[in-house]
Amino acid sequence: MERNDISLVDLYRARNRIHGRTVKTPLVRSKTLSEACGADVRLKLEHLQITGSFKLRGATNAILNLEDEQRKRGVTGVSTGNFGRGLAHAAKQAGVRCVICMSNLVPENKVDGIKALDAEVNIIGRSQDEAQVEVDRLVAEEGLVALDPFDHRDVIAGQGTLGLEIMGPWPQVDLVVVPLSGGGLIGGVAVAVKSVNASARVVGVTMDRGAAMYESIRAGKPVQVEEHASLADSLGGGIGLDNHYTFDLVRDLVDDIVLVSETEIANGIRHAYWQEKQIVEGGAAVGIAAILAGKIKPTVNTCLVVSGCNIDMPLHHRIIGGENPEG
Ligand SMILES: *Cc1c(COP(=O)(O)O)cnc(C)c1O
Repeated sequence: MERNDISLVDLYRARNRIHGRTVKTPLVRSKTLSEACGADVRLKLEHLQITGSFKLRGATNAILNLEDEQRKRGVTGVSTGNFGRGLAHAAKQAGVRCVICMSNLVPENKVDGIKALDAEVNIIGRSQDEAQVEVDRLVAEEGLVALDPFDHRDVIAGQGTLGLEIMGPWPQVDLVVVPLSGGGLIGGVAVAVKSVNASARVVGVTMDRGAAMYESIRAGKPVQVEEHASLADSLGGGIGLDNHYTFDLVRDLVDDIVLVSETEIANGIRHAYWQEKQIVEGGAAVGIAAILAGKIKPTVNTCLVVSGCNIDMPLHHRIIGGENPEG
């Protein structure tokens, strides 16, 4: 099976490669969640990563692993925003041309963040799939190298380094809760977790609007879903009908997938702010949201991955002030 290509050794190699170009983010105990749940609940504060999300790990690993000739051609990829920002940063550091293709569902603040890193930005269509057509064109016509935001082994191995930073200091962890979209993050983290402790559980959380991996796992094969606007904008998009790695990884290594509503995501953002004093985006708040909603019961040692901070600040301001999302 292809997924067996990704092992702990790949994660260690990725860790060595990206060392010094990414930061090791804090793993801190949540006092309120621990007391409320009678468990040791810790947060992996990956929203404090450079570029504001873990996407920098995979993007940096993938760029550094390119051949010289590929680096000269430049890179491109689709993005819901955070991968584009990570890839733009990594490409700029390496002096590589970078073109990010995005749908018009991507929030303005994320587009601006990418442009500020000198990447070229092409906004195409209303979904990730339509943006992918532009990536395919750039590969065919301009010879750019496409780097998938999740279904790429160097990207998955890079994201998996986050799992090493949980299992290293805290090998006793028995439940790891991870925001889920295309599955690059949870796939890499699950390789780290299950390699160290096969009985530890890994649970994915995503929004109930257009949950591509959830529907695909239910169907037993990758399926397409309709994309909707969500507070968890970074969790949008499909998993690709010709998925190579992440579908198998999630099917084989992930114990459960939990869905949360827009109201629950807003509660997660509020809790992160008022209780944990952290500014997080919707996609990063889904683990906290699932715990608060009682949809995941923490076990003795529970780690929640908090994956990004790139939220539109006026929107954040409204949510923490009590405004609820429509729908
Ligand atoms: C991309 C992203 C995710 C989901 O990662 P996948 O590898 O696509 O599953 C979760 N949270 C944030 C903040 C992201 O940017």
